[in-house]
Amino acid sequence: MALIVQKYGGTSVGSVERIQAVAKKIKAFSEKGDQLVVSVSAMSGETNRLTEIAQEIQDVPSLREMDVLLTTGEQVTISLLSMALQQLGCDAISYTGSQVRITTDSAHGKARIKSIDDHRIHASLGAGKVVVVAGFQGVDEEGHITTLGRGGSDTTAVALAAALKADECQIYTDVDGVYTTDPRIEPNARKMNTVSYEEMLEMASLGSKVLQIRSVEFASKYKVPLRVLSSLIDNPTGTLITSEENIMEKAIISGIAHNKDEAKLSLIGVPDKPGIAFKILKPISEANIEVDMIVQSVSAREGLTNFAFTVHRNDFSKAEEILQKVCKGLDAKAVQSDDNVVKVSLVGIGMRSHAGIATQMFEILHEENVNIQMISTSEIKISVVIDAKYLELAVRSLHAAFELDKE
Ligand code: ASP
Ligand code: MG
Repeated sequence: MALIVQKYGGTSVGSVERIQAVAKKIKAFSEKGDQLVVSVSAMSGETNRLTEIAQEIQDVPSLREMDVLLTTGEQVTISLLSMALQQLGCDAISYTGSQVRITTDSAHGKARIKSIDDHRIHASLGAGKVVVVAGFQGVDEEGHITTLGRGGSDTTAVALAAALKADECQIYTDVDGVYTTDPRIEPNARKMNTVSYEEMLEMASLGSKVLQIRSVEFASKYKVPLRVLSSLIDNPTGTLITSEENIMEKAIISGIAHNKDEAKLSLIGVPDKPGIAFKILKPISEANIEVDMIVQSVSAREGLTNFAFTVHRNDFSKAEEILQKVCKGLDAKAVQSDDNVVKVSLVGIGMRSHAGIATQMFEILHEENVNIQMISTSEIKISVVIDAKYLELAVRSLHAAFELDKE
């Protein structure tokens, strides 16, 4: 008998019919004799709807009250799913995050799970029930309700699987797995059968929206076998996210990620002396703006240099304003800003043992006449910032050149 944790996303529980279909699926699993813990999201669109109502009342709603509000979305779906299961003759019971006791820190809106009490869940499983747990939520030490950040139900499921030492954590969603690249850009994108935690982590942080980043971090830390699969087709196999050791054939490049949320800021003609990077980036980080790529160019003759970095597009205007002040303070020549850029990245654990991948990537982009504005690399990825208008061209030509469409 296996213990399986399943998670169904908002689209999969988006209507009465969908909830009933999910209940049927779960019932079939439970009839095979497996023990099932199921975590669900709110119905699709519900979290956004609640957020908009809050904003009609308060411009910047209290984070604590937002958590009380948003967690109701998942409370609706756990009860409805349990009813649908009971209706099919499958014994089920629902629990909110606080009822299970999924304890988190007190960072409302982006809380981190600290521990999960497995007593109630084990007792209910022992009584032969399917256990349905609200995703995305927990409770802090003082009993305040918290949420785990948008997309947080993925993390609930993985954390449950880790705490219960489940045999597998299955994330049911509206796509049938993790693809070599975004199929909306490259129709020849191929579903991967397996991918390593590390690669998935890079892809999630580089813009692939299949899983919440934290859920992948969690899975990697506790070695939870994690499978992404479609709730809309029968007998899906999906994509298994697992340890590198478990992957037989290691591709050099596994996938191409892209991120449209980047914006680039440059300070032109800064005096090249110690402390410059610090003085430019300190006010940026003090404003809680995260910086992604950073490039400082070699000093020109007059002892001046250029300093460029990227931020999330949401932080663009705030960062620009700060940089204008820094520009005056440091006696630099000018600020240049560009929110018309994207980041395209090659990801693959095989890169570690293969030299020359970067050169190959740059050659392909050169052949397509795509100008590279910034570059950053790690052991298993190479990212470039390019003009947004070349996004599709870059993704498609790299996908083809590295033969990602072939098994
Ligand atoms: N309902 C939450 C959201 O929309 C959590 C989730 O779906 O994972 O972000
Ligand atoms: Mg999601």
